[in-house]
Amino acid sequence: MEKVKCLIIGSGPAGFTAAIYASRANIAPVLYEGIEPGGQLTTTTEIDNFPGYPQGVTGSDMMADLKVQAERFGADVRSGIITEVDLSQRPFKVTVNGGESVIEAESIIISTGATARYLGLESESKFRGMGVSACATCDGFFYRKKIVSVVGGGDTACEEATYLASLCSKVYLIVRKDFLRASKAMQERVFNTANIEVLFNHNTLEVLGDDDGVTGALLVDNEGVNKTIDIDGFFLAIGHTPNTSLFKGVLELDAEGYIITKPGRSLTNIEGVFAAGDVKDSHYRQAITAAGSGCIAAMDCERYLSSL
Ligand code: NDP
Repeated sequence: MEKVKCLIIGSGPAGFTAAIYASRANIAPVLYEGIEPGGQLTTTTEIDNFPGYPQGVTGSDMMADLKVQAERFGADVRSGIITEVDLSQRPFKVTVNGGESVIEAESIIISTGATARYLGLESESKFRGMGVSACATCDGFFYRKKIVSVVGGGDTACEEATYLASLCSKVYLIVRKDFLRASKAMQERVFNTANIEVLFNHNTLEVLGDDDGVTGALLVDNEGVNKTIDIDGFFLAIGHTPNTSLFKGVLELDAEGYIITKPGRSLTNIEGVFAAGDVKDSHYRQAITAAGSGCIAAMDCERYLSSL
């Protein structure tokens, strides 16, 4: 059975930053890229707020650079999915690709990220990629001068609605309650944007469309009255689900399923298992905070290994 000192699960900014630090610390990390190599950033377009890129950078380019940087210091980056973990004793046992191989790991850094949520409507799945999207920054470009809707009332929904309003002729913000959960500043931006119409107390019953994609949405208000809106794009911004199904019942998770770590550190409730990035952060969810968190995890991991 293959034995590794440090196994990193996930290949977003947290995972690759952990790999850079861990390889420079000579703990020979092996990183499994997971279902979405490069993570969520590969589905965004331009990143303008990552320090050090004055002209901006695309998510895919940044992730490709991070991979090259990690490999430059000797990180062993592999494609593959971790499908099972046994953290009951050390070394930990980790199954790759449903049993293709099993690895013994002295330490594990979990950086599996989070996944955008969908409403779960059949029509929503039918038109996914044909007008239904959970990423305005990735797909907004295709809806220039068109009409779109955004579902959600949090900061993400408000941010995406204002972003889309700068491209589209009109944006409906579909909010299930009678208030926005977003910060006051974000709410003000929404209310001060002339081409955003907020539909409070509305839920989506169906995404409407034809062979060419989305044409509308059937909504219902909290009094049971139906309403159809004509739209070309239907965006979801209703939060994320942390990718922690592998760790349920094993690691301490919060009510939403995010891994709980010691404040300011990456330590989980199991010694030798560390967490970094969006999988443990429901709040900041930025590439830069995930990268910082990956650095912390690698340093915690290195200290742990040297204490053995
Ligand atoms: P949130 O969990 O804050 O908001 C999710 C929104 O989606 C809520 O309005 C919720 O409604 C709504 N929602 C959830 N499920 C459904 C459903 N089935 N149907 C309709 N509506 C639904 O997620 P965000 O992604 O907006 O934000 C996550 C975190 O990231 C927050 O802490 C936020 O502050 C932070 N963030 C910060 C930003 C910034 O500072 N620039 C930018 C983006 C995010 P309800 O209110 O009724 O529960």
